[in-house]
Amino acid sequence: MNLNSDSTMNTAQELLPATVAFLSKPARMLIDGHWREAASGETLPSLDPATGEALATFPAGTEADADEAVRAARRAFPAWKKITPYDRGRLLQKAAELIEKHADELAQLVTLENGKPISEARREVATAVSWTEYYAGWATKLLGDTIPLSLPGQFLNYTTREPLGVVGGITPPNYPLTMPLYKAVPALVTGNAVVLKPSEDTPLVALRLGEIFSAAGLPDGVFNIVTGLGETAGAALANHDDVDKITFTGSTEVGRYLVRASAGNLKKVSLELGGKSPNIVFADADLEAALKGVFMGIFFCQGEICSAGSRLFVERGIYDDFVARVADMARAVKLGPGLDPQTKMGPLVSRAQQQRVLDYVRIGTDEQARPVTGGKPPGNGLENGFFVEPTVFAAVNNTMRIAREEIFGPVVCAIPFDDLPDAIAKGNDSPFGLAAGVWTRDIRKAHQAAAALDAGTVWVNCYNAFDNASPWGGFKQSGWGREKGPYGLDLFTQIKSVIINYT
Ligand code: NAD
Repeated sequence: MNLNSDSTMNTAQELLPATVAFLSKPARMLIDGHWREAASGETLPSLDPATGEALATFPAGTEADADEAVRAARRAFPAWKKITPYDRGRLLQKAAELIEKHADELAQLVTLENGKPISEARREVATAVSWTEYYAGWATKLLGDTIPLSLPGQFLNYTTREPLGVVGGITPPNYPLTMPLYKAVPALVTGNAVVLKPSEDTPLVALRLGEIFSAAGLPDGVFNIVTGLGETAGAALANHDDVDKITFTGSTEVGRYLVRASAGNLKKVSLELGGKSPNIVFADADLEAALKGVFMGIFFCQGEICSAGSRLFVERGIYDDFVARVADMARAVKLGPGLDPQTKMGPLVSRAQQQRVLDYVRIGTDEQARPVTGGKPPGNGLENGFFVEPTVFAAVNNTMRIAREEIFGPVVCAIPFDDLPDAIAKGNDSPFGLAAGVWTRDIRKAHQAAAALDAGTVWVNCYNAFDNASPWGGFKQSGWGREKGPYGLDLFTQIKSVIINYT
């Protein structure tokens, strides 16, 4: 979006003065409570994916900036660790209130920078509020255990949860607001200091969040943001010997790099990685509900969601009809700029992501999968944006690259199956294990599938049902560790065992 032109705004929601004001000032990194340029003075552009135009520039942070931020976090850590749980919780609660207060502006920024429809951006902001509130509440509930020992004499053994120290958070662009919060809030509430490296495709939303955290009263250095490229700013954090933990959401490929980079000081690493999730529809399912769930499962957020139900398994007897209906729904999707309230699907987040998706469409066609609909950028004045039509491939088999590799876009691969064992075998035949969906009215089949699927989350007769309290993470190459709920606290604390001899 060009801030000086209303050419794209005729049908779109007007930008709020606060949104314009934020985008009009120079974007800076947050280090030790100060807003700074990169040490190199270099900047990068953040683009509006709906138009390809620059929204603003932001600092291209490098190793020197990451090092400054880590030092600031280290200095801030001891005092932050000692602040009372009640006060830590209050500060984060205050941040939640401010996110809610600025909800409309934040939703516009999310849509402008990520591309998703404004309705989806509003839901993201609502999750940001409830997430921050949820974890703020944990501040006063970080309990330990008392453990009965069998040693001779009299002993008291109790455990405490201690923060790790300096936590580096590295995040992807698909949820520009909640991803940074998924990292920062549980880390902060457990007493850690944080350095965030947001995606280079969506740094502005993260920087606005930094303003909000500062306004909430977080002490200087407790929450820092270094913007820049993954291979420079991100890698500097990953390799830094004074970072105690990396919490990462992104691709499996970068996850592997982070594991290697952590070897130097053996920093802890948790990883939320890619997926190629099976969404399995049995002939006995409520097919209307399944259709909606399958459609939303792959096309929500332009398919740029780790949990996307990108492998659609349909029982053979209903395969042709069901796939045809998914394709009909895909054809009816209105693509457009996310700020247009009529838009049902926005652009992909970057030109590179658009190209990656189009490359996979070509690969699928070369592999003899049958393109049923979509597979190209739309016309209609959207040529400059990073759009791809929602795409359905039929006649896919599980050995094709489009069925094995994560595309991270609006492309669904429909594969027939014969019975429950066949569906499970095919569903599990993947290097990934993030999520799975099962649609059936048969409760035995539902439980058997849930037990047999190799996935961190199995949804039965629903899809993409997320809750702050419910654990999230992957089997196999989809990740290490579980975010959300009480499980998420384990990622940011270490257990100390104290044994007192009072014999
Ligand atoms: P990506 O791995 O390319 O980038 C993610 C982040 O890592 C960015 O901030 C990037 O700058 C940084 N990065 C890149 N190279 C780096 C390096 N060498 N060292 C340190 N940091 C580096 O992923 P993406 O394309 O931005 O996001 C899409 C991926 O994220 C998909 O694979 C998707 O499945 C995954 N994802 C997973 C979850 C989950 O919960 N499991 C959620 C959302 C997205």
